[in-house]
Parts: sequence; C-alpha cells; structure tokens
Amino acid sequence: MRKPFVAGNWKMHKALGEARDLVGSLKAELASETRVTVAVCPPFTALTVVAAELQGTAIRLGAQNCYCEGRGAFTGEIAPAMLRDAGCSHVIIGHSERRQLFGERNDLLARKIPAALEAGLDVIYCIGETLEQREAGQTRDVVAAQLDEVLTRELDPTRLTLAYEPVWAIGTGRTATPEQAQEVHAFVRQKVGALWGPAAAEAMTIQYGGSVKPANAASLMACPDVDGALVGGACLVADDFVAIIRAAAEAAA
Ligand code: PEP
Repeated sequence: MRKPFVAGNWKMHKALGEARDLVGSLKAELASETRVTVAVCPPFTALTVVAAELQGTAIRLGAQNCYCEGRGAFTGEIAPAMLRDAGCSHVIIGHSERRQLFGERNDLLARKIPAALEAGLDVIYCIGETLEQREAGQTRDVVAAQLDEVLTRELDPTRLTLAYEPVWAIGTGRTATPEQAQEVHAFVRQKVGALWGPAAAEAMTIQYGGSVKPANAASLMACPDVDGALVGGACLVADDFVAIIRAAAEAAA
C-alpha cells in the first residue's frame, strides 16, 4: 500500500510573516496526521524561516526549482546543495510554469534531476499535457516523451515522486475528472514499470495536480493510481490544504 503524499506549491506567494502564520496553522492541525506524507514548498526567500518553524514536525520542506550545477557563475540560480543546506528534503522539477514561462525543456530537466538527487534532495517531477495537446489526442505521447527524455534507469526510483499535472487544469479551476486522471496515472505507472520493473511501478508515488480543492479531493484521491496531490492555490489557505490532506488520508484508509 502506497502512503499518500500531498505537497503544497506556494508558487510566488507569502512574505515571511505570512509564511510563519501558514506553517503555524498547519503544524497545529497536522500534529497527529501520520497517514499522509506532507510537504510545503515555499518560495526560496522563505525556506530557512519555514525550515525553522518545521523543526520537530513530520512536515517536509521542498523548493520549487533548482539548477543542475553545484556552483559557479549562474546568476539568479540556486544549487541543489544550497537547498539541502536551507533545510529542504525535496525539490519540484519540471513544473509546467517553469516549462511554459521560463522555457525549461526536457533536456535541461534531464540534467536537473540527477543533480538534485546527488545533492540529497528527493524529486517531485511534474509532467502533463496542454489543452491543445489533449484535444489533438497527444496526451500519452507528450507524457511519454516527458518521461522517456528525462528519466533513466540509473536514477533511483525510490527517491522520485511523479506529479501528473494537466496544464489546462493548473490554476484554472478546471480539474481533470477522476477518470481522466486515473487513465493517465495508470499509463504513467506502466511506463515506470517498463523502465525500472514491476516493483518500482507498484511503489512509485504518482500525485495528481491541477485545481485540487477540498470539494474534489476525495474523488480524485479515490482513484487507484492517484497517490496524493500537488496543490497550488488551495495550499495557501491552511484549512483547505488540511482538508485535502485529510481526504488523501481517508482515501488510503
Ligand atoms: C500547481 O501549481 O502545481 C498546481 C497544481 O496549481 P493549482 O492547484 O492552483 O492548479
């Protein structure tokens, strides 16, 4: 049985005081929640403050991005080891906003993932198709390329989480139906099996992301191949994020 994993991607939100408040509420609400792995992914500026707040809790800290080099003249970039140093256990790589707004392509992401793993970070790797690609019947091809061109047999699958995030569902209020999500998740699991074998496929955590809210979380989390969520907008409000975590816990019970 896979333990659900719910991560909150704060994107470019929360100044330091707001970050402290949000984490304070999450700590109080989630103190006894052991059924779900929970992570928060604040902006870089809030990482050390949130790390201090999370000391002694089971809530994990993730960053939203990193670079693929360890050090050097890469103005504006952050090395994976710096994120470890700031207290992170996880990093999101390949979020669709990085792909679409900042031109990150599969070849760059294929360099970022091993760099992050080598620095001791576990990776949440995001994949997903645009609306245009879905309507053109290309969903499987796009997702397959995002996996085939980025993941290799040498990577340790136990340190990876995959997040299926259809681009048309991110921040739009439009969610994939449970059937749509399940169909792609099952395909992704099959691809993981082809790369690393059946045990890795069975163990792989595959999150769904895209306008997950308290109202739709239970039906999405009930899908057999959906193992949690990567949550954007709804993770900025403690009660909403906690409700999604509880839905994930109940679906796994
Ligand atoms: C995300 O940023 O990964 C995301 C899924 O955002 P939202 O929940 O707002 O759609």
